[in-house]
Amino acid sequence: MTQEKDSTGLDLDIKDAMEGHERFRQQFERDRAFYRGLATKKQKPRLLWIGCADSRVVPATITNADPGELFEVRNIANVVPPADAADEAVGAAIEYGVGHLGIDDIVVCGHTGCGGIAALLEPGGLPSNAHLGRWMEFTKPAHQLIAAARVPDEDRLTATIKAHIQFQLDNLMTYPIVREGVLAGRLNVHGWIYDMQNGELSAYDSQGGGWRGLLG
Ligand SMILES: [Zn+2]
Repeated sequence: MTQEKDSTGLDLDIKDAMEGHERFRQQFERDRAFYRGLATKKQKPRLLWIGCADSRVVPATITNADPGELFEVRNIANVVPPADAADEAVGAAIEYGVGHLGIDDIVVCGHTGCGGIAALLEPGGLPSNAHLGRWMEFTKPAHQLIAAARVPDEDRLTATIKAHIQFQLDNLMTYPIVREGVLAGRLNVHGWIYDMQNGELSAYDSQGGGWRGLLG
């Protein structure tokens, strides 16, 4: 791989980030009061958002959220490892978000065309990279369910992505702080999918079992 540089030898990707930051600094000056408020008060986010790391699925963009509104964990394929799994990142965010920040809504949001889910549908299966391969194991329950359901090939990826989101909602309930909060009626968990083709969010209806547009 070659790194593209400008005439002064500056990496173009870094230059792009620097120029973006310069525009942000101008915005920051215009909105100084807002940012001062963020800096001087404790954060009080509305949602704990557990989403995919995919660069095209940006939580603040698709919910039009301002800084301070979303407490985010993003990882490949929006995984919530079960509480007894060997991962602390998601559990720590859950405990901090719910226990310390007082968040009362958790959203697990997947998206159509998720490469993290598609990986196991490719010939060859699990990636051989050590970390990636182990991480992808967390998507296996959805793959196994959809494989057993004999879903037509063209629907298989989206069906697996949706099933995976539902499994992550189940996994959320393995964390005592979530289970107790939900049972006590002070915490809600939501499974959403973002459609990259039309920009729409749909929500899983845990009562009826289907998916429907978030806006109805
Ligand atoms: Zn993804």
